[in-house]
Amino acid sequence: MSGNGKKGKILVVGGGISGISAAIEASEAGCEVVLVEKNPYLGGRVVQMNQYFPKLCPPSCGLEINLRRIRTSPRIRCLTTAQVEKITGGPGSYKVTVRQEPRYVNDLCTACGDCVDACPEERPDEFNLDMGKTKAIYKTVETAYPVWYAIDGDACKGAECGKCVEACQYSAIDLDMKPGTHELDVQAVIFATGWSPYDATKLENIGFGKYKNVITNLMMERLASDSGPTAGKIKRPSDDKDIESIAFVQCAGSRDENHMEQCSGVCCMGSLKQTRYVREQYPDAQIYIFYIDVRTPGRLEDFYAEVQKDEKVTLIKGKVAKITEDSSGDVEVEAEDTLSGNRVKQKVNLAVLATGLVPADLSSIEIDGGLQKDEYGFLTGEQPGLFSAGCARRPVEVAACVRDAAAAALKAIQCSVE
Ligand SMILES: Cc1cc2nc3c(=O)[nH]c(=O)nc-3n(C[C@H](O)[C@H](O)[C@H](O)COP(=O)(O)OP(=O)(O)OC[C@H]3O[C@@H](n4cnc5c(N)ncnc54)[C@H](O)[C@@H]3O)c2cc1C
Repeated sequence: MSGNGKKGKILVVGGGISGISAAIEASEAGCEVVLVEKNPYLGGRVVQMNQYFPKLCPPSCGLEINLRRIRTSPRIRCLTTAQVEKITGGPGSYKVTVRQEPRYVNDLCTACGDCVDACPEERPDEFNLDMGKTKAIYKTVETAYPVWYAIDGDACKGAECGKCVEACQYSAIDLDMKPGTHELDVQAVIFATGWSPYDATKLENIGFGKYKNVITNLMMERLASDSGPTAGKIKRPSDDKDIESIAFVQCAGSRDENHMEQCSGVCCMGSLKQTRYVREQYPDAQIYIFYIDVRTPGRLEDFYAEVQKDEKVTLIKGKVAKITEDSSGDVEVEAEDTLSGNRVKQKVNLAVLATGLVPADLSSIEIDGGLQKDEYGFLTGEQPGLFSAGCARRPVEVAACVRDAAAAALKAIQCSVE
């Protein structure tokens, strides 16, 4: 460091709420920022939510203003469909290689949708957790940044079809687009690579993947969302039946020595929030929550207390041992109620697994000295020059991610001042 106070360049890996917040903080303090996101859009998991706890506002609330700050910032360069391949060097001087996959749609796209109408090919709708399909060319998310559509290269037939190219009046589609490489010099890196849901098919006793009416908490977010596969109506997947009874199964994979030993931190609040989605649509539905402990620290306890006032919500303290589905599509949830000592078998229309959070897999990044992780695979955030924020460090809610991002940005700025 020469001590002239000139701010340098910071790389932020991951464009969820943590990465977006870190990029904005660092850029508004005068740093150049490159924000690298593997999806074709920014926002991360938050854009898959129907509403945020505790205020139950939509994800666009807060996100929109941040995306505007990114869009109008002269100091943030945003690379979507991109992943870091290699990082060499040390604090204050890193060389980074980023590979960017072709999106096949350029910045002339106006999101008019004519291409989607013309496209004959389909792909599983991964944003909606494969509940439904999209065309091979698709609008990424409702509040998308960038707004340009994207093409799934595996589903598209390319030039042999070309119907989207014919339909596009703006010359925004380039089926010959190739992968690109970016070489960057940065002074610090912030990993904001977030989380993925635990693979619920590994929970063999509770039948996810085998039974249609056993879904995950993230699927519930999409079912409840206006932009989801059922346009926001929560229905039973097997037969579109209305919900008369539902069970929330806490710690599906978390706090379990056979799966993940750690608490996933946000799933109790996630399920309590989802009881509100159900109640809004079904005033008479019976709701059962099977839990080990309900963890709602600080002010979140108020939300829990409100849910407890609902006379049609029953809390059962017991870890679910088994779920089966009968020919009518109803599921039976079995657990031992540890308060009464009784074995409970509860029949419901739908079971929602509060699947835990696993850290993003960063094994494909070649990095001098490697990344320091805790015993659960989350980044420690303690490495000089290589910082981390949000769920890359531990499972936390959005408000904590934003605070974390500001702290990581401050540490990165300290490394980047020349
Ligand atoms: C069911 C459920 C409901 C929830 N509801 C709420 C709620 O109501 N309120 C609340 O406050 N919190 C809620 N949460 C928690 C919330 O989802 C997290 O706090 C939030 O997603 C964390 O943001 P993040 O940016 O750290 O990670 P993410 O949202 O996971 O974003 C990480 C980003 O990094 C990208 N990425 C990953 N690896 C790479 C790579 N190698 N290269 C480039 N990019 C990469 C990903 O594509 C992603 O865009 C809920 C969680 C669950 C499971």
